[in-house]
Amino acid sequence: MAMTFHRFNKRRFFKQFWLTFRPYMLNGYEDPHFEDKIQNIYEQLKPLYLQLHAYVRFKLRQKYGDVVSETGPIPAHLLGDIMAQNWREIADFTLPFPNVGDNDLTQELIDQNYTAIQIAKTAEDFFKSLNLTEMPESFWEKSIFTKSEDKPMVCMASSWDFSDGKDFRVKLCIHITLTDFTITHHEMGHIEYYLHYKNLPVKFRGGANDGFHEAVGDLISLSVLSTKHLRQIGLINTNIDNRVDMNNLYKVSNSVFRPLLKIEINEIIFCF
Ligand SMILES: [Zn+2]
Repeated sequence: MAMTFHRFNKRRFFKQFWLTFRPYMLNGYEDPHFEDKIQNIYEQLKPLYLQLHAYVRFKLRQKYGDVVSETGPIPAHLLGDIMAQNWREIADFTLPFPNVGDNDLTQELIDQNYTAIQIAKTAEDFFKSLNLTEMPESFWEKSIFTKSEDKPMVCMASSWDFSDGKDFRVKLCIHITLTDFTITHHEMGHIEYYLHYKNLPVKFRGGANDGFHEAVGDLISLSVLSTKHLRQIGLINTNIDNRVDMNNLYKVSNSVFRPLLKIEINEIIFCF
């Protein structure tokens, strides 16, 4: 089947997108300078991001040749995620020190016979270690941790507050992978938030703003991936040299490119 390439008219896309969603997206941030502050943070990250972007382009050109231009847009699907939201899937051939490898934590989880429930219990232990709340009994009874085989089910991870102050659940299809390990922590981060405002009047049971709920989960996910924590819970058992550590950090950075989508759109071509 022939493929057609559609070049984004980025200016028109962003103008239209922003005009439509701006009031909705800024609702709740309560700071008249919020946009300026975000722009400022973005400008601080941009030099690092540009270097990473150039490095990834170089590696993609080594693998795919002239399909990836030296200066033009990068086909999004070559980044391993059709929306180019993260670049995890290209880590295997872009590691900065390919000969020393990295910690294959998915394999470690499998080797240690982790189950879906065990992954969730490990996440709970992490929150408890921060002096946060343990999950209520009903959470373990009513949540879904693995994909149901006998009925149709959408696997997108989610967490739910049933608003009665008692019933909190996650819906996950946990596979024994590092990705699902971090997603489980992220979703439980939402539950922690729910638990902490459960006694407030309904009006106050919500995140401070749209970003805050997600930020709690993502911040937790990043902490969970630190070498120190992984060693503490026995997923890293050997001494690792700095190059392996650098490979691991590079993989973590590949997971957090999503906030920089703005510049990616400048540089990426989508293929349908
Ligand atoms: Zn979330």
